[in-house]
Amino acid sequence: MTQQVSGWGGTPASFPARLTKPASEPEILEALSGSLPVAPRGLGRSYGDAAQVAAGLVMELTHLKPTFELDEMSGSLTVSTGYSLGEILERVLPRGWFLPVTPGTRFVTAGGAVASDVHGKNHHRDGSFSMHLSALELLTPSGTLSLSPGDPAFAATAGGMGLTGVISKITVKLLPVETSRIKAVNIPTRSLADTFEVMSRDGEYTYAVAWIDATATGSRLGRGLASFGEHAKIDELVGGAIDQPLAYHPKALGTIPVPAPSNLLNPLSVRLFNSAWFQAGVAGAGEKVTSLDSFFYPLDAVGSWNRLYGRRGFLQYQVVVPYGSEDLIETVIGSLAKGGHPSFLTVLKRFGAQSAGLLSFPKPGWTLALDIPAKRPGLSELLRELDRKVAASGGRVYLAKDARLDPNLLEAMYPDLRKFEEICRELDPEGVMATDLARRLRIGGRH
Ligand SMILES: Cc1cc2nc3c(=O)[nH]c(=O)nc-3n(C[C@H](O)[C@H](O)[C@H](O)COP(=O)(O)OP(=O)(O)OC[C@H]3O[C@@H](n4cnc5c(N)ncnc54)[C@H](O)[C@@H]3O)c2cc1C
Repeated sequence: MTQQVSGWGGTPASFPARLTKPASEPEILEALSGSLPVAPRGLGRSYGDAAQVAAGLVMELTHLKPTFELDEMSGSLTVSTGYSLGEILERVLPRGWFLPVTPGTRFVTAGGAVASDVHGKNHHRDGSFSMHLSALELLTPSGTLSLSPGDPAFAATAGGMGLTGVISKITVKLLPVETSRIKAVNIPTRSLADTFEVMSRDGEYTYAVAWIDATATGSRLGRGLASFGEHAKIDELVGGAIDQPLAYHPKALGTIPVPAPSNLLNPLSVRLFNSAWFQAGVAGAGEKVTSLDSFFYPLDAVGSWNRLYGRRGFLQYQVVVPYGSEDLIETVIGSLAKGGHPSFLTVLKRFGAQSAGLLSFPKPGWTLALDIPAKRPGLSELLRELDRKVAASGGRVYLAKDARLDPNLLEAMYPDLRKFEEICRELDPEGVMATDLARRLRIGGRH
């Protein structure tokens, strides 16, 4: 079957590729020995071109589910990588276990979580997803490998954006929890300096993130809502939740059926939304026990919300800059707003220690993510200028969100790039593993 495949942002436009959905490891190994370049794909929640390959074979792994083994005593879970984090939660949460790290959507496969070495709201304390793995199985064009942390091929695969092979199985250590609820504390902040100050108290909490009103300017630039959380204990529950402390029933509010008109998210509507959201946050400030989904996955309630951006799609610009480069966060928010590219949804958080992943994104510092309508005049030039400043500060752009980075900046942002490419060459001498992202950024000499 040949079809168009693209990332969550709908940009860059995808080119036709063959699509296959293997359900077993032998099927995957057979495809890896074929003549087409192969791009692994999970649920396609990376924003750009990381999970597609023009004129190649896109291998969607969501049917790969032969293994699900939970050791109820230790919380060690061995799972095939076609399971989504949401499906895993539905099975382990009622038994008192939670994911050690979760991104802002549960519609991510276990394979995609490792390949992007995803981070969550607890990165400042617990690091990224790969830091909680004790083993992974990798299917490469030269055969099957069982890898442990410490192996060079493990370091290349964690955050390796699918370029070392197909991750078929992982063993991950889960976190014990008493309930499926979160005790959340929301604190409004009045300026960027205030947001930095409040967020710097994140050591007191397991989870911490700040939403920023990226349309506020002047002395209010960087105002927002800092949100902290802990897993609620049984004695903190109230009402009906007490009878079913571990119940987990994700709810869907609806789906955006078709792409919205391209001008729906314009500077005015984005400003109105951000102001209203901020005022609602001020009104709802304080402590409350809330559902897991409203704390971790608020966007998942609306299916295909990416269609709100219309056919032109959108970019998520996510960077990390080292501590001490806070001015750069102000520059990014301020110059995008001034340039007429206000972000609909903007998130700031602090990262802790880096994982061993050679292309893993998180490193100690502030990370900022902004959702911006794509293809607006002047946007590419502005982002290129910001990229250069981010690279010069010792920061980097998140590849799982990228659709447009200049390849010449890649090595400055990811200093282990050459080591990564060397390991890829050993695992895959013919260069079978390929994605549009790798070609665009010339990773491993792919064009
Ligand atoms: C609403 C939303 C919120 C998000 N929040 C966060 C967040 O908080 N933190 C964060 O880190 N990320 C976040 N992301 C990004 C997302 O977590 C990553 O892009 C993740 O990799 C997507 O997983 P996927 O299964 O959809 O993989 P895809 O998008 O399909 O693929 C992503 C990459 O993984 C590779 N890959 C997928 N499966 C395999 C496999 N089995 N073996 C080898 N390679 C594979 C692909 O080749 C590709 O390079 C968010 C995305 C969305 C849409």
